[in-house]
Amino acid sequence: MYQGLIKRYRHLLPVDDSMEIITLNEGNTPLIEVPAVAEAAGFSGKVFVKYEGLNPTGSFKDRGMTMAVTKAKHDGMKVVMCASTGNTSASAAAYAAKAKMSAVVLIPDGNIALGKLAQAMIYGAKVIAVQGNFDDCLRYVKELCAKYPIALVNSINPYRLEGQKTAAFEIVDDLGYAPDYLLIPVGNAGNISAYFMGFTQYKETGMSQKIPKLWGFQASGAAPIVENRIFEKPETVATAIRIGNPASWEKAVKARDNSLGRIEKVTDQEILFAYRLLATTSGIFCEPASAASVAGFIKYAKDLEKDSTVVMVLTGHGLKDPDNAINQAPEIFHVKNNLKAIEEVVI
Ligand SMILES: *Cc1c(COP(=O)(O)O)cnc(C)c1O
Repeated sequence: MYQGLIKRYRHLLPVDDSMEIITLNEGNTPLIEVPAVAEAAGFSGKVFVKYEGLNPTGSFKDRGMTMAVTKAKHDGMKVVMCASTGNTSASAAAYAAKAKMSAVVLIPDGNIALGKLAQAMIYGAKVIAVQGNFDDCLRYVKELCAKYPIALVNSINPYRLEGQKTAAFEIVDDLGYAPDYLLIPVGNAGNISAYFMGFTQYKETGMSQKIPKLWGFQASGAAPIVENRIFEKPETVATAIRIGNPASWEKAVKARDNSLGRIEKVTDQEILFAYRLLATTSGIFCEPASAASVAGFIKYAKDLEKDSTVVMVLTGHGLKDPDNAINQAPEIFHVKNNLKAIEEVVI
């Protein structure tokens, strides 16, 4: 029986036998080929999505949280805390519940998708909506965790990235080889750094031949790494990457340069086009931030080596953000309660 990523990859993770593993059986997410997307971009190689929205709380954050909460519990902590655009808070709240710990989450007031807010609330976290942006929230969390015995579980916690790197292992294990390219949305830039760690470790331990080129994508209204400047007021429909001053900025630049990759920006319009395309041509529903990978693929497919293998990371599930889905989809038909009215619409 599959029992989560720590059990599967513990020989490559900083855990020891004295630790009680806090898990919801995260990881082991499907790698799905999406030929319709390849075709839409006029690309001849093999294209896959790594559907991280199928983790227990609906995002890749669970990979890091199983590690971070396992460590916090082992250290005798009673409370975990994070700043979040939504998914980290959902994940922290769930893993804290499983660990019989409490969670405090700081979110930017009014700028978090409905599904994510619902999750943090029902898992029993103390939810604090701050009249500021994510970067403000993270600053407060850092100060409070330095002052009190509270475990900080944002991705600046190194255990988070250790857990997240296992997605790279799974991709190689599923394909049987390392892909040529990995395309990924970039917000705080922890995840792109984690994939680089994972692919590097697999190469160093002889499990794969090479490190894929990492191509990261930011939203054009929140593109600090692309433009090499802090965005004081980041703006994008993709709220999970609405970050103006990424915590793992330098690590991401290193991941980009050492993998011979690139970090580019995509507009909200390109993101939403990719979001609809993936759903309507491939039956895969991700949240807008995740679609930045697909938008980047469509925009830059011309630069990919012919017949190469590409993996796009879909970081979160579409159900997280029902408002955006409804806004982007065709209208529903409202009809009277009779067959004729329905028939008119159907035929
Ligand atoms: C957190 C998150 C991101 C950004 O990941 P970083 O590690 O902050 O770069 C992208 N998409 C979704 C859905 C997320 O939850």
